[in-house]
Amino acid sequence: MRDYNYNSSLNMPYYKVKNGAGIQEIAGLDKTLESLRIRYTDMQEREERALEMRKKAEEELEELKAKRKEEVRDEYVKELEDYIAEQQHSFTISDEKWNEIMKWQKEHVAEKHSYIDKNGEKQPKIAGAIGGRFSYTFVPTSIGIFAKCKCTCGEELDITEDV
Ligand SMILES: [Zn+2]
Repeated sequence: MRDYNYNSSLNMPYYKVKNGAGIQEIAGLDKTLESLRIRYTDMQEREERALEMRKKAEEELEELKAKRKEEVRDEYVKELEDYIAEQQHSFTISDEKWNEIMKWQKEHVAEKHSYIDKNGEKQPKIAGAIGGRFSYTFVPTSIGIFAKCKCTCGEELDITEDV
């Protein structure tokens, strides 16, 4: 024998029947279902809101990442542009060519711009207070850069890099 008996009809209120007497409403089934439904809907809505917020946060993160990437890329492009611009208005001399130039200058000064000191030794004449005996000329053309090193006396050395 069961103490409790529940009306199974969804549309009828819940009744507690004890020992066949004293019928007492404990809760309407429809009310119970309604409150469960509301709680469930609330839960669903909260979950949906949480999901939406997470999705939004993820999108914002992606935007930030993309922006950062763009910034890094812009910085890199700027650096490259600066480098290229610098390359375009500077001229370089290879180590090999530089050694050749130094050798020529030394020989040229010894041969053309030296004097014999009181001890009978050959000494280079100083070319002005701050030097400046040699000048370098670079001539960019469509087929390459022609270069020369020129002494104040007019003598010059072709220093065009071999291609
Ligand atoms: Zn000279």
